[in-house]
Amino acid sequence: MVEDTNRSLLTKEAAALSPATRVKYYDIVIDHGNGATITDADGKTYIDLLASASSTNTGHAHPHIVAAITKQAQKLIQYTPAYFANEPAAKLAPRLAALAPISGPVKLAWGNSGSDANDAIIKFARAYTNRQYVVSFTGAYHGSTYGSLTTSAVSLNMSRKIGPLLPGVVKVPYPDPWQRLANESEDAFVDRLFRAFKQPFETYLPAEEVAVILIEPIQGDGGIVKAPTSYLKKVYDFAHEHGILFAVDEVNQGLGRTGKWWSIENFEGLEPDLMSVGKSLASGLPLSVVMGKAPIMDALGSPAHTFTAAGNPVTTAAALATLDVIENEHLIERSALLGQRAQAFFENEQKQFAFIGDVRMYGLNGGIDIVDPITGLSDATATTKLIYRVFELGAIIISLRGNVLRFQPPLVITEDELTQAFSILHQAFTELAAGTL
Ligand code: PLP
Repeated sequence: MVEDTNRSLLTKEAAALSPATRVKYYDIVIDHGNGATITDADGKTYIDLLASASSTNTGHAHPHIVAAITKQAQKLIQYTPAYFANEPAAKLAPRLAALAPISGPVKLAWGNSGSDANDAIIKFARAYTNRQYVVSFTGAYHGSTYGSLTTSAVSLNMSRKIGPLLPGVVKVPYPDPWQRLANESEDAFVDRLFRAFKQPFETYLPAEEVAVILIEPIQGDGGIVKAPTSYLKKVYDFAHEHGILFAVDEVNQGLGRTGKWWSIENFEGLEPDLMSVGKSLASGLPLSVVMGKAPIMDALGSPAHTFTAAGNPVTTAAALATLDVIENEHLIERSALLGQRAQAFFENEQKQFAFIGDVRMYGLNGGIDIVDPITGLSDATATTKLIYRVFELGAIIISLRGNVLRFQPPLVITEDELTQAFSILHQAFTELAAGTL
């Protein structure tokens, strides 16, 4: 007889959700979290190597953030910022503007999700430039609303039954270094991909009608993939030459994830006109922001981009506390340092296991490709076996694009927890190699 644990009862209740919103890995119901661990409804604790999809960089239930949320909730949970200012939002705005890697006066607009922040980029860019087209990249994920979805690498599952998507979005190939041909130098690769970037502009897309180029400088859901610096510089120069705005999506890779405040800071000398931030901004509470050069952000009048709860006092109080934790606990330096440790671990595993095809680590933020050792091709089946075994052994990791292990622990993970996670991963790799998975 199957025992009805808390877990199975709750997962039956969760089945009332529409399948469109139900993407589940394991039949667990998460009950609580603490730092870099989560505990399910049956009391089993796991090391979290996912940080709620990079939305809890400060870990779970951080006391400083919990206290800030509680204190604010006791004072004022909501009064719509669309009509009246509130104290935490008023304090957060200049603090964020000062952190933005944008010179000159910066203004910002609140949102509730990374998706709507990317839609906002499209709106502000179109309004400011009075141009229509938007260029984005293959492999990107910018979100689930119409604008952000259209600029993403849309799968059939995401676009079926809902088309047409937003008109005027053109996709160009993202320079995934994995696609470098045998014997192709980095320069030759960059030249080839930049020619592919320019191809639409030379055939059907008038550059003077393009409002914005939107890019994840390091793709998150695309597999933790970093564009070559020289490629991004060429795109950046092209944008400037043609009066096209350069916008970066920092929703996944911002706020310390890459060992810098912003992922664009991994590329010297590139300054965005607009940027979107979300996920970890309020440690996972629904708050996002689009920031940009003041004249661009002034291009839309009032009210043109507003949501009832965006910039809500509880979420902005959580964001202020999140920034405190990132600064006071030196999480950016910590991400860089622990990222080096993780890189050394995975590279060492790669020497032992031929199915580890590639290790990419930027801060505590990695994509590890699992491939067939004979053909070198993606092996999604082996990846699924690995992540399930890791789960059984007490850690949570998931895959990206089928065969990439997504390694994004909370940045507060302890050295001991990291060691424990490595030993779990090593055991799963060993079992896969032995054919016992
Ligand atoms: N942009 C990037 C780079 C993301 O990774 C995501 C979510 O995974 C989004 C935007 C969308 O954010 P949200 O799910 O909060 O709408």
